[in-house]
Amino acid sequence: MSFNRLETAELKGKTALVRVDFNVPRDGDGKITDDTRIRSALPTIKYLQDSGAKIVLLSHFGRPKGQPNPEMSLRFIVPTLEAAIGKSVSFVEKPSADSIANMAQDAIILVENTRFSHMETQGDPKMAQFLASLGDLFVMDAFSASHRNHASSAVVGNYLPAYAGLAMERELDHLAAALDHPKTPVMAIVGGAKVSTKIDLLENLVSRLDTLVIGGGMANTFLFAQGHDVGGSLCEKDLKAKALDILAAAEKENCHIILPVDVVTATEFRAHADSRVCGLNEVLPHEMILDAGPQTVSTILDAMDASETLIWNGPLGAFELPPFDTSTIECAKYAAKFCRRGSLTAVAGGGDTVAALALADVLDEFTFISTAGGAFLEWMEGKALPGVEILKSQSNA
Ligand code: AMP
Repeated sequence: MSFNRLETAELKGKTALVRVDFNVPRDGDGKITDDTRIRSALPTIKYLQDSGAKIVLLSHFGRPKGQPNPEMSLRFIVPTLEAAIGKSVSFVEKPSADSIANMAQDAIILVENTRFSHMETQGDPKMAQFLASLGDLFVMDAFSASHRNHASSAVVGNYLPAYAGLAMERELDHLAAALDHPKTPVMAIVGGAKVSTKIDLLENLVSRLDTLVIGGGMANTFLFAQGHDVGGSLCEKDLKAKALDILAAAEKENCHIILPVDVVTATEFRAHADSRVCGLNEVLPHEMILDAGPQTVSTILDAMDASETLIWNGPLGAFELPPFDTSTIECAKYAAKFCRRGSLTAVAGGGDTVAALALADVLDEFTFISTAGGAFLEWMEGKALPGVEILKSQSNA
């Protein structure tokens, strides 16, 4: 994928407007519970600092609905950011071109929540132009916000030279290597709760993959569509026709579909509920399918043996409730082993997927794990992401 990389930018004496994603989770006391997003912005901040650029950080936080709201101020980020950078950070509620220009060249400035103006989410060109007036170049470093056509995450790039930040660059390079020009054969595992949230994704994938594993609760809808009785399982019966369409499209595109051939069932949706492994036609009316069975796992592992690239979104079972995490963990560990050996490129993303892979203790072993939820899904759906498109449109390569 071609876009302007930071290493090609003239930075000394310039002011870089950097879109980060500081929309971090907080507990009831306001304490940051996961600082991954702050840490992922550090390489770009450090690079800009070392290159002599003034840094203006832009981010949204929460959903203040276009109104200033003290509870959603970004001020709380400052101490954590200062500790991480080892340098003071100036917090600016209402920036102006003059006030930014008057700050020291080595200043690091965090601007108040961009969503305090309704113009942000409307992608208003006036807000984008105003933001552009604060700096000399735009650095997009928030892949997780790139699916929004917002003023600070995409539109501002119309008015300044636009570059990918280092985290963004890494993400785009890995995602392109997984789906745009992957080493083949390529397989994907798509699991999770519902088909309804992943129809676009499945439709896009069947035309691009050699093998697609459909797992988790969403597999039940496919099994039901094929005439199996899924008892009391999570199942979107109204999507029967859609499921059959997807299977027909896969056949036409030569995409091999792997659905469960055996399942783990229980009568209660809770951890350590009594469970049993059974065949597809043995699910009792009061039972729920909560995980894939061992034969299914073995089929998935065989598919991994035959693949060079794996894309993964969504767990294969109700992984929060042991033992229904078994198939997800076994498949994750197998993929991790192949990544270690260098025989598989494995890219995963989405909130629950990251949690499931963390449970399997493979986060450091996968080739790349994207923490971007919505943006990762839209990328898998084959949609154009405005925050990426703006970078591509300016590419000098
Ligand atoms: P998603 O956000 O669509 O990726 O869905 C993730 C959720 O799907 C997790 O909370 C899992 O517990 C749930 N899930 C996966 N498999 C099943 C299943 N067979 N029955 C019910 N929930 C499931």
